[in-house]
Amino acid sequence: MTNLPKALRDRLQAEYGLRTLELVRKQGARDTTQKFLWRLADQSLIESVLIPANPALYGEASDRHTLCVSTQVGCAYGCKFCASGLEGLKRNLGVEEIVEQVLAVERWNESEKDPAAAGAVAAIGSGERRLITNIVIMGMGEPLANYDNLLKALRILNAPWGGGIGARKITISTSGLAPQIRKLADDPLQFRLAISLHGATDETRNKIMPVNRKYPLGELISACEYYQRHKGRMITFEYILIAGVNDDLREAQPLALLARRLNAKVNLIPYNHVEGLPWERPPEEKLEAFLAALEKEGTNTTLRREKGHDVDAACGQLRLRTERQLAGSAPHSGALS
Ligand code: SAH
Ligand code: SF4
Repeated sequence: MTNLPKALRDRLQAEYGLRTLELVRKQGARDTTQKFLWRLADQSLIESVLIPANPALYGEASDRHTLCVSTQVGCAYGCKFCASGLEGLKRNLGVEEIVEQVLAVERWNESEKDPAAAGAVAAIGSGERRLITNIVIMGMGEPLANYDNLLKALRILNAPWGGGIGARKITISTSGLAPQIRKLADDPLQFRLAISLHGATDETRNKIMPVNRKYPLGELISACEYYQRHKGRMITFEYILIAGVNDDLREAQPLALLARRLNAKVNLIPYNHVEGLPWERPPEEKLEAFLAALEKEGTNTTLRREKGHDVDAACGQLRLRTERQLAGSAPHSGALS
């Protein structure tokens, strides 16, 4: 727009972004979980995952679609089992890069239905029915470490003039940043909170989650209590089961006690293998036994029983593998097609 003063154009260019995501790869078929790998303006790669309604996982059946959204390129928290943290943190995502994940998936969906319509639909604030009805902030990165950009993005996605997605349909998952959990508790919006617990004692958590040394369980749980008191909302504990690490039945009792103390729900998730890491999911019987032990304690528990998990199922893996391929191939060699 050369009719605008150059100084204004420079400022618009520096401060705003339109269509900041470019689709590099997509995995998975329609009606199943589909993973999108995006390239950002600075060539960084991030992932978003589109999950069709899954009553077993999220509790309500409908034509809902949940989008799992990333908040950072990489992650500084270095949980031992996670692909996103393997190469550390590169940078925070900007507000527009978080919001754009929703719009870009919806645009992609429309263009699949009608290639001529690509780009003409799914504008934010258009009042049209969205493809994406629920959001989980469980992609790459630690969302509460990018607090300001995340909250600004969620306000846009939630606002009636914006995405119109109810705050109760938005779940933020954290590895346990206690001070930011308290800050979120003081925010007026009613987001859901999921805690990546993965261990019900400091001993187990310290082995796999370095964040526990900074904010040990006592501090984390008291921040969760504060959240619950202020919000009156149920918290979910995510507990990935990793063979020989946190799947001993003796772990079930302290976990049940924490869940009771917070009136929390426990979501058991069989570990997804990450290329190059030694961890594995426990055998089926062990998963069922862990579930039964929690149920016996009266804990509200679900076990994710997904069929056939492919090699890139764990979040952060598609990016990692693509970056490693890119490092080993000439630029524009078509290795990613
Ligand atoms: N940083 C935030 C959100 C992103 S991770 C957090 O840690 O909560 C989202 C969830 O995926 C977390 O519960 C995380 O522990 C889990 N996760 C990471 N790697 C996984 C793997 N290989 N298999 C199953 N779950 C995994
Ligand atoms: Fe970061 Fe969450 Fe992965 Fe831990 S589990 S390294 S906090 S993305």
